[in-house]
Amino acid sequence: MATRFFFDPPRRPKVKAGPNIKSLLVRCPSTSKLTDTGQTIEEKRWQRAKVKIQKFTCAHCGGIHTWTKKDIILARPT
Ligand SMILES: [Zn+2]
Repeated sequence: MATRFFFDPPRRPKVKAGPNIKSLLVRCPSTSKLTDTGQTIEEKRWQRAKVKIQKFTCAHCGGIHTWTKKDIILARPT
């Protein structure tokens, strides 16, 4: 009789309960480094989110940058 084994999938990192919150990062035009805008959004809301032009003070170059939705990189909050 053939025995079939069902292996567990590879261990996945623990997924936090609740919505998948992402940090909004923008690449600094002066230093090309990613900068946290300090804002977060639930990932599934992002695609539909309407974003006006926003400003933030850059932690890398100290300047004030503006960003819109296309500039944003979603990242896991640290
Ligand atoms: Zn900057």
